[in-house]
Amino acid sequence: YQVRCIKADGASGVADFYVLIFRDISEARRIDRMRTDFVANASHELRTPLASLRGFIETLQGPARNDPDAHVKFLGIMLDQVTRMSRLVDDLMSLSRLELKASLAPGDAVDLVPLIGSVCDALAPLADKLGVEIRRELPAQPIIVGGDRDELTQVFENLIENGCKYGQEGHLVEVALTKEEDGTVQVSVTDHGPGIPEDHVPRLTERFYRVNVESSVSKKGTGLGLAIVKHILTRHRARLNIRSEMGKGSTFTVRF
Ligand code: ADP
Repeated sequence: YQVRCIKADGASGVADFYVLIFRDISEARRIDRMRTDFVANASHELRTPLASLRGFIETLQGPARNDPDAHVKFLGIMLDQVTRMSRLVDDLMSLSRLELKASLAPGDAVDLVPLIGSVCDALAPLADKLGVEIRRELPAQPIIVGGDRDELTQVFENLIENGCKYGQEGHLVEVALTKEEDGTVQVSVTDHGPGIPEDHVPRLTERFYRVNVESSVSKKGTGLGLAIVKHILTRHRARLNIRSEMGKGSTFTVRF
């Protein structure tokens, strides 16, 4: 079992309250081995925040009923859990939507220059919060690919957001868009984080796959971001290449 203990200070003269969350890791490991079973994984991911919510609600109805400090603290944690569940449901819906239309190749002409520029703008506040800076290298002339604007936006949002989350505080996340002589369009996102062990790299686009679960959980993700990226890129007949060096950082490159 993994045990998490959260302490809330009681009002003066009242004993402190503790919430203990027991998580059965043997079950988590079993489900981990069945990673291909999508439904089992989704329920498992939802069960953890639900169990925690139940614990907090019971405490608020019981021992912490008259403790305003405990209310503030517990409600904050409960809001985080609800936010996590919403993110998971959004990602699950994106994946199933993508699977439904897997065989349709999207065909609008999309200029990647403003698209990537606005993704960088939208993620600047997050980068700021995480102590990294997004530096973009975008050409002056348009670079057009055939595709779906919203889906491509999601691809670059996921990659650049990961660069910010898993990058190194105080360092750059570099986003570069280029077009080669042979017409290949390339977008690379480079961070200077701790890097990804080589044996994990081929599995990153599997649903729910996270490298270091304990540290990744603190990074607020669902483990579905790169699975969504891969689905979208397959529909666009584009490829994702991942290069990473331990201690130096990672580069995720999309080629159209
Ligand atoms: P998450 O929601 O966990 O970020 P993703 O599918 O986007 O899910 O990524 C899967 C896992 O791959 C992450 O949990 C993290 O362990 C690893 N990962 C993704 N991007 C990077 C990166 N730029 N540097 C290091 N690890 C990364």
